[in-house]
Amino acid sequence: MTDTITIALSKGRILKETLPLLAEAGIELLDDIDKSRKLVFPTTDPNVRVLIIRATDVPTYVQYGGADLGVAGKDVLMEHGGEGLYEPLDLNISRCRLMTAGPKGVAPPQGRLRVATKFVNLARRYYAAKGLQADIIKLYGAMELAPILGLADEIVDIVDTGNTLKANGLEARELIANISTRLVANRASMKIKHQKLHPIIEKMGAAVERCKVADPA
Ligand code: AMP
Repeated sequence: MTDTITIALSKGRILKETLPLLAEAGIELLDDIDKSRKLVFPTTDPNVRVLIIRATDVPTYVQYGGADLGVAGKDVLMEHGGEGLYEPLDLNISRCRLMTAGPKGVAPPQGRLRVATKFVNLARRYYAAKGLQADIIKLYGAMELAPILGLADEIVDIVDTGNTLKANGLEARELIANISTRLVANRASMKIKHQKLHPIIEKMGAAVERCKVADPA
């Protein structure tokens, strides 16, 4: 299968912003993703197929060579750890911040912290690097509820406008990382399929630069 390139895309909010960048590299899906229940899509390039999967699975598919390229948020990549992956391109889309947050006007407790998050690996590394003792509680969604119901002192979550935190009586505390969507590549594919991957990466990179000029914010 050295002639076929497989690209794993994240379902959801990133997808709609990723497709125009792929189109600039001459890769467009042949099916309407809103109508199709397919998981593997043929594209206008007969050598390229696209998988549409859960964001958290994208780095895993790319790491193990199930996909040669992948598109995922830096938050997801940080949680995965990045093993076996190159990160050749910042796509500069779906930008947001990864932050700690807690109840408005309440200082974090002095001793051991209870932290609710879906980013357990990332949170563990963050608090350890700060020399803080933290019990990390894994949640799959609605992290904002945890401090309200006394499940945790703090959460680690994605913040965009801050409206979700505000609506739930929380406020952002510390910035962990600025997040944007990245193109990742399987390390072995970058060597074996370099000739095929290089033009795709280059064209997507040029499209990102054009978007930056058109919308410098
Ligand atoms: P906001 O209320 O605008 O701060 O949005 C915060 C909520 O939207 C969080 O609960 C996130 O899960 C989600 N969110 C916002 N932007 C992104 C993004 N770029 N990637 C993933 N999730 C996001």
